[in-house]
Amino acid sequence: SREIRLKSRPVGTPVADNFELATVDLPAPGPGEVQVRNLYMSVDPYMRGRMNDVKSYVPPFQIGEALQGGAVGEVVASNDPNFQVGDIVQSMLGWREAFNTSAAPLAQATAGQAATITKLNTYGLPPQTFLGVAGMPGMTAWVGLLKIAALKEGDIVFVSGAAGAVGSVVVQIAKLKGHKVIGSAGGADKVAFLKSIGCDEVIDYKAEADLTAALARAAPTGIDVYFENVGGAHMDAALAAARPFARFALCGMISQYNSTGEMYGVKNLIAAVGKSIRLEGFIVSNSFHLLPEFLQDMSGWISSGKLQWKETVDEGIENAPGAFLKLFKGENTGKMLVKLS
Ligand code: NDP
Repeated sequence: SREIRLKSRPVGTPVADNFELATVDLPAPGPGEVQVRNLYMSVDPYMRGRMNDVKSYVPPFQIGEALQGGAVGEVVASNDPNFQVGDIVQSMLGWREAFNTSAAPLAQATAGQAATITKLNTYGLPPQTFLGVAGMPGMTAWVGLLKIAALKEGDIVFVSGAAGAVGSVVVQIAKLKGHKVIGSAGGADKVAFLKSIGCDEVIDYKAEADLTAALARAAPTGIDVYFENVGGAHMDAALAAARPFARFALCGMISQYNSTGEMYGVKNLIAAVGKSIRLEGFIVSNSFHLLPEFLQDMSGWISSGKLQWKETVDEGIENAPGAFLKLFKGENTGKMLVKLS
């Protein structure tokens, strides 16, 4: 079985040489253990932070060890009566083709001792959607828009990184709730994609020299909600366009993750005072207790055809580092995934 290890810590933008492919022996599962073959693994922007040796809300990856991340897989051998061969399971043991684990029983997992694998009720959806639209990124969109920004009637919504896993769900939730939505993304293909999912106005930020002017054109009456995925000049444009009592859900700032020197200094922050703007950062895992409510909304929207998803899929564990690097080059539309096995 093969896995991807952290070979060295990146300085600035990660490169292929920061990763190494290793082959490990995978014995038959021991007593009480389950063997899982991963079907799909996720690559996510937050993993960039884990490549640095700094304390954050998730501990850093260790050099010489396999990386970790969301994955869905299939049980291929089981010495645990709670798991049958063929069960679809979710884990944080991505970046490897297969693994053995002793699964903590559900009772322990709910007591806060994280189970290494959990059986997935797929609600009839393809399993990999639980890494995207029906999983962590989809829930991030839902939490940020509905709970953090507290979307309310009449709000005009602006979302950056709009063509990505989180952003494309933000666009669609805001649309199905009847809002005007302005999305920003890089390149003509992403503009076309965003129009196809109902985005009212799309800004190709790579084609705009002055983002503040571009947003003022796209939202002449201003914005009430900003869903921040990108940071930098996008934040300044949103502050300039905000109407009084706007709410900003600060989800991520990917434009800053590979920064080596000083980070972008926001120039228009003073607008938050006069316009009484609420800026609130959030981490989706702090809201995981809302998972049933999210899944109920999401499965309803998907089954009624109100919400669609897009994936960019690379194949093979050897291509996982390349898939991760695509996130920082904007080479994914919708959820970036790696198909294994
Ligand atoms: P995406 O699918 O959106 O992929 C990343 C996208 O970011 C790229 O496709 C690219 O799109 C854009 N991008 C990359 N570099 C830059 C740059 N320098 N300037 C502007 N845009 C850039 O990823 P996710 O949907 O998984 O994540 C989106 C954001 O949400 C990230 O900031 C992530 O950290 C955050 N996040 C936060 C969570 C939380 O709990 N707070 C949970 C999950 C995600 P383009 O071609 O348009 O440039």
